[in-house]
Amino acid sequence: MMKKIKGLFCKECKKEYPAEALHVCEFCFGPLEVAYNYDLIKSEISREKITQGPKSLWRYIDLLPIEGGPTAGLNAGYTPMIHAKNLGAALGLDYLYLKNDTVNCLTLSFKDRVVAVALTRAKELGFDTVACASTGNLANSVAAHAAEAGFRCFVFIPSDLESGKILGNLIYKPNVVGVQGTYDDVNRLCSEIAGEYPWAFVNINIRPYYSEGSKTMAYETMEYFNWSTPDHVVVPIASGSLLTKISKGFGEFEQLGLISGCKTQIHGAQAEGCNPVASAFKEKRDFIRPVKPKTVAKSLAIGNPADGFYALRIVRESGGIIDEVTDDEIIDGMKLLAETQGIFTETAGGVTVAVLKKLAERGILKKGESTVAYITGNGLKTQEAVSQKVGKPWHIQPNLKSFQDTLKKV
Ligand SMILES: *Cc1c(COP(=O)(O)O)cnc(C)c1O
Repeated sequence: MMKKIKGLFCKECKKEYPAEALHVCEFCFGPLEVAYNYDLIKSEISREKITQGPKSLWRYIDLLPIEGGPTAGLNAGYTPMIHAKNLGAALGLDYLYLKNDTVNCLTLSFKDRVVAVALTRAKELGFDTVACASTGNLANSVAAHAAEAGFRCFVFIPSDLESGKILGNLIYKPNVVGVQGTYDDVNRLCSEIAGEYPWAFVNINIRPYYSEGSKTMAYETMEYFNWSTPDHVVVPIASGSLLTKISKGFGEFEQLGLISGCKTQIHGAQAEGCNPVASAFKEKRDFIRPVKPKTVAKSLAIGNPADGFYALRIVRESGGIIDEVTDDEIIDGMKLLAETQGIFTETAGGVTVAVLKKLAERGILKKGESTVAYITGNGLKTQEAVSQKVGKPWHIQPNLKSFQDTLKKV
C-alpha cells in the first residue's frame, strides 16, 4: 500500500532518511523535513472532505505526519477567527482578523497544535516518555497531553519563568526541571540528554513531525477565507518554526489545487529584547547573529532560533517585513487588544499586536486589504507582566450610599 509519508529529507542537501526519530542530516547538519507523497494526498483530499471533518486540526489529517489516527490532542485547533472591527477601527484597517489561539485546547496556546501531532507520532514510533525544552507554553502543553495520553513526561524550562507557566506544568505532575540559564542553555542541555535517553523530545529528535502541526494555522485561515489567502499575515517569531510552517501550509493548499494563487505578504514580529531575526532583516544580513534575551515576552525569548534563517528568507521572498517592539509597546499591545476586542493575550500576543500597529501606522497594511494576526497565547499565564499596569478595583462598604459616593468621585 502507498503511504502518505515517504520519509524524511534534509532541507539543505536533500539526502533522504526513514521516517524515524531523526532531526539533523548526518552529512551536512541541515534540518530534516517530512517528505509526503503529494500525488497520493491529492487523490484523497478535497474541500468537501475537509469541510465535513472533525472540528479540530484533525480535519487536515491528510497533511499531517502520522500514519494512523490521532491519539493525543483530539480537540486541538479549529480556534475562532474574529473579524476585529474595534481594533481594526483603532488601527485604520477595515479587514483585520485575529486568529484566537488563546482559547486553544488543552492549554490555551498555539503549542497545543504541535503537541497533538508530536505525541500522536511519538506513540506511533513506540516511545513511552516524552520531553521538551520550552520557553513555557510548550512545557504546559506537553505536560497536559502526556497526562491525557499516558506518557511519562519531563519538561525542561528556564527557572525564571512566569509563575502561571510553572504552575501550568506542576498541576499535571510531570517531572519539571528548572534550569538556571536561558532557553538556549536549556535547549543545548536537552540535545545532550536526548543523546543519552530513549525519549521523544518533541522539539528536538521528533521536531520534523512536531513542527508540521503549525501548518494547521494556515489551513484554518484559508478555509475561513473561503479557500483563499489574506493579503497579509502577522506572525510572532521565537524559533521561527510557526512562521515557516504557515508559509508551507499556504503553499501546500496551492500545490494541491485547494486554493489558487497565494500572494500573501508574511510579516514577522519580535521583541526588541530578543530580536535576532528582526535585526538580521533590518541590517539586510543573510545570517542570524544570536542574542542574549532580555524581554518581558519570555515565550518568544529564543536567542539562537533554529528556523530563524528560513523565517528570514520566507518573509523577504513574500515581500513582508520583520519588526520589533519594546517591552512598553508589548504591554500597550496587550491592553489595546483587551480593551478593543475583549481578548486577554499573553506577552507574545502583545508583541504581535504592537508590531501589527506599527505596520498599520507605516502604511504597510492598508485599509482595504485583509490582514490576519496570530494571537498565540493566553494572558492568564503571564499576569505579572501587566499586574502593575492596570487599574485597581473600587473599595466600598456594602451599602448603596457608599457606592453612590464613590460613583460621584470617578
Ligand atoms: C512558541 C510560541 C510562539 C512561536 O513559536 P516558534 O518557535 O516561532 O514556532 C509564538 N507564540 C507563543 C505564545 C508561543 O508559545
